[in-house]
Amino acid sequence: MMKRMLPYVLITALLIGCSQNPLTGKSQLTLLPESELQTMAVNEYQQFLSKNKVVSNSSNKDAAMVQRVGNRIINAVKTYYAEHNISDKLKGFNWEVNLVDDKTANAWCMPGGKIVVYTGLLPITQNEAALAAVMGHEVSHALLQHGNQRMSQGLLASVGQVALAVAVANKPQQTQNLFMSAYGVGAQVGVLLPFSRKHELQADKYGLIWTAMAGYNPKEAIYLWERMEDASKGKTPPEFLSTHPSEGRRIEQIKKFLPEAMKYYKPVSQ
Ligand SMILES: [Zn+2]
Repeated sequence: MMKRMLPYVLITALLIGCSQNPLTGKSQLTLLPESELQTMAVNEYQQFLSKNKVVSNSSNKDAAMVQRVGNRIINAVKTYYAEHNISDKLKGFNWEVNLVDDKTANAWCMPGGKIVVYTGLLPITQNEAALAAVMGHEVSHALLQHGNQRMSQGLLASVGQVALAVAVANKPQQTQNLFMSAYGVGAQVGVLLPFSRKHELQADKYGLIWTAMAGYNPKEAIYLWERMEDASKGKTPPEFLSTHPSEGRRIEQIKKFLPEAMKYYKPVSQ
């Protein structure tokens, strides 16, 4: 199977070395076909869920809340893409939202919209609007293909562009490890790739727009990141911060972007 994919992966990787992101309109380094990553995510997500304790939506109000907030964020994204005539860019997205019982303070979104929130994040988010800010941020990383760019850089650093397709085809374990760390699931593989400051800023901006469109006050993001910073001074800093570094400037930049985000804000009853 992997061997037959080789020519396809090689050609596509070379052709799409740079792509234009539909959200930002900017050129970006994506050596891997996003559709390949979405296929990979389907498997990795299933495996992750089978190895972790998924909290059932029907019997748990936190799980129901995570589902509700997730659905509102997803609908906000769909609305925005439809309004900008780029809905076709969401074709590979088969959204899924799950809460897992794990005291780690973390959340992530794999390509194709496979979202996980850990119960350990909820004492920091404390309310739906702050949870929306985190989920909006995570979804933005997936929409902006930040994981693809990080994997591309990681693969380039380790094997170089010519050998890239060979590595993908012949070293599934290495590729899988890189995938897991690129999407913040990395604890079990021991390597964490932090997002760059530029990617963090982009994810914050779009995250605030989804939050506002979902009917949550994006101002809550400020209090959320204040709580996150407080938690980072504790005995077990949130794992979220090891892949999403804030360098103390996040809150300042969120405040700058808030007036723009507020234009999208239509409160809904919770
Ligand atoms: Zn981030």
